[in-house]
Amino acid sequence: MGSPSDMAGSALGHAHPALSSKRIAARLDWRGGVVWLRDADGAVLASGPVQRIERMPGGPAQVHLPDGWLFETDADLNGLPGARPDRWLSRLEAWHPRLAAVALICLLAAVALWRWGLDLLVALAMAVTPDAPVRAMDGGNMVMIDQVLAEQTQLDLDRQLQVLAIFDGLVRHAPPAPWGEYRLLFRDIPAMGPNAFAMPGGTIVITDQLIQQFEDDDVIAAVLGHEIAHVSERHVLAQLYRAGSIYLLVTLIAGDPGPVLQDFLREGNALLALSYSRGQEAEADRLGVATANAAGHDGAALAEFFDALLDEIGEDELGWLSSHPALADRAAQIRGMAGGTD
Ligand SMILES: [Zn+2]
Repeated sequence: MGSPSDMAGSALGHAHPALSSKRIAARLDWRGGVVWLRDADGAVLASGPVQRIERMPGGPAQVHLPDGWLFETDADLNGLPGARPDRWLSRLEAWHPRLAAVALICLLAAVALWRWGLDLLVALAMAVTPDAPVRAMDGGNMVMIDQVLAEQTQLDLDRQLQVLAIFDGLVRHAPPAPWGEYRLLFRDIPAMGPNAFAMPGGTIVITDQLIQQFEDDDVIAAVLGHEIAHVSERHVLAQLYRAGSIYLLVTLIAGDPGPVLQDFLREGNALLALSYSRGQEAEADRLGVATANAAGHDGAALAEFFDALLDEIGEDELGWLSSHPALADRAAQIRGMAGGTD
């Protein structure tokens, strides 16, 4: 191909005057960068540079000319100054701003769905979850835990009653359990060490190992306050739902929780595999300390609990606790909280 100034050619087609549906047989001639639009008699209708060329797939090319003239042709316009070999590309470019906007909206929607979609499904599912299956889940889980993991408590009755009194005091200063009532169970669970955990209906288990190792009632109160917060803030069911399937959540929200929910909630291993998010742990630490303080204990003793766990077993060997945020950080946070409120 020569330089643009060499290129000359012509094409037959039809011309439309500006803003008119009139259709005139016409010819377009071009040389260099200039075109001439002529009628059948050779009279020049328009001349000058091409303004824009468009072609719909399978349709004629449309050449926009000065003074609003439009020239339509099925002929090949390659070589016409201003024509692009790929007319699809020029269509796309004309569409560019709208395409970009649509693409951006799709991208944002995808990100929002990825980022918040599950949160939204979980929140909706929790809102429609009735009490009965959640309470049943606590019971079913205890049966399973007693079968595979836990022994009857070795604590004497007096000590159990003392800890129950601490627990009752905390419950009086805590928000209600969303799907049931708080209850405290004592179990001897050597595999778990000094520990406590909560179930979604409000059942909280504390190990003999914790009570024997921490005679300080403030520590026990703070740990129980922390577990109560996991229940009241609905962390337990939220994490179980998160670990479940989208199918379960959609079925729940769609209206017939029945058997799907029963089956899901009966699976105790989901509960034992449960881990909380960093944010949930921080919230439970904060609320647990506050509840313990409100009930007349020193909630900051929760930091002692974390320190002792660290000293004794080290961060790496905490088992399920290791998925919790760094204990040292949490201890420091709790001390900071206590400093800020005094
Ligand atoms: Zn926790």
